[in-house]
Amino acid sequence: NRSDVHYFGAGPAPLPTPVLEKAAQVLLNYKDKGIGLAEISHRSPEANEILAEAKQALTTLLDIPDDYEILFLQSGGSGEFSATVYNLVSIWVEKKRAKIASEVGDDEAEVLKRLRKVVDEELKLDYLVTGSWSLKASQEAARLVGAKHVNVAVDARKANGGKFGVIPSEDQWNLTPHTSGGGPALAYFCDNETVDGVEFPSFPHSLEGDDAPLVCGDMSSNFISRKVDVRKFAIIFGGAQKNIGNTGIAIVIIRKSLLPPHSQPASPDLLRALNLPVGPIVLDYPTIAKNNSLYNTLPILDVWVAGQVMTGLVDKYGAQRIGGQEDISNTKARNIYHVLDKYADVYQVVPAKDVRSRMNICFRVHGGDADKEKAFLAGAEKKGLLGLKGHRSVGGIRASNYNAVSLEGAQKLVAYLEEYATS
Ligand code: PMP
Repeated sequence: NRSDVHYFGAGPAPLPTPVLEKAAQVLLNYKDKGIGLAEISHRSPEANEILAEAKQALTTLLDIPDDYEILFLQSGGSGEFSATVYNLVSIWVEKKRAKIASEVGDDEAEVLKRLRKVVDEELKLDYLVTGSWSLKASQEAARLVGAKHVNVAVDARKANGGKFGVIPSEDQWNLTPHTSGGGPALAYFCDNETVDGVEFPSFPHSLEGDDAPLVCGDMSSNFISRKVDVRKFAIIFGGAQKNIGNTGIAIVIIRKSLLPPHSQPASPDLLRALNLPVGPIVLDYPTIAKNNSLYNTLPILDVWVAGQVMTGLVDKYGAQRIGGQEDISNTKARNIYHVLDKYADVYQVVPAKDVRSRMNICFRVHGGDADKEKAFLAGAEKKGLLGLKGHRSVGGIRASNYNAVSLEGAQKLVAYLEEYATS
């Protein structure tokens, strides 16, 4: 029975039971129309209303300024690894082209010649590699534009014996200098590393300021779990299937200045001439924005679930907005880490203390003893504490503490941790 278990899976992850109960109804019959939400047109007034409500709730929760747009795509989080590259490289190239054209006039061959040189020498995409998801994003960038254009500004493994688990101090980062007119096409980081349990405690200082680069933040696993200064980002993205909803959509929050008419993408012909990739139309932000995320068939049921979850938080926390959820998330995480630290001879938290994730709490039992970790998991399961197995690439235990994990669920886990350590 649902009420007998607490699920700590890393994504897909638990959803609020009232939302699922309502989802079961609307799947059969939406607003007494006799047809269900998975059946109605994505172009119907109902679908538009669902989209508008989800956008409004997210805007309220994160206090998103007017000069940002919210997009829904079917890309998953991984699709955004590619989309950020396609879109921001295209904008970077077009800016350079326009500048060269303003200098040499309409001699197209000359413009192309100079542009080739600029791309060859100056195109850089900065990545802060602090865990396996930012690593994957950087690898996707290298696959698309070539490794020589990807600047891994920091690889946290190098500072931690080959393993993720720390964020080296910013003075050790090797960012592409970002002065006005120059700088990287984007600067990328993953705000919360789901596999490695590493979360940025705050926004990196060196990515702030008037000449700040275009920052892309992957918030797949800590979206709507704490306050965010949206203005510091060019793009925030995340898959829905952890804190927001079910699998099927990704949400992108993008600065409007990166969309037409403020910014123009490079033409496909120009990108081809420069041996740079032309992205699929379904990942093209200007196209998605122009069509209110309905360029092609959007899974409206998934948007509805996300909207219900977010509206629920808006109703629950009122003027506190996401701050209310942040307090609960912090309390749950604090309690779990507290008991892990209390029994440090039994439990070893994987990441360094200053970068511990509030969302994915990764630890070993008895130094990673396989039999003991198995027994730990079996004991947890007996108590209805499910989904605690660490990611297959790193092993160990991972308690994902997403928004829909209740305070009561977290307390049950704390009690089990205590009991296991003292038995
Ligand atoms: N980024 C992060 C931080 C993730 O945790 C995940 C998925 N676990 C992804 C990206 C990839 O998301 P998707 O599976 O939706 O492509």
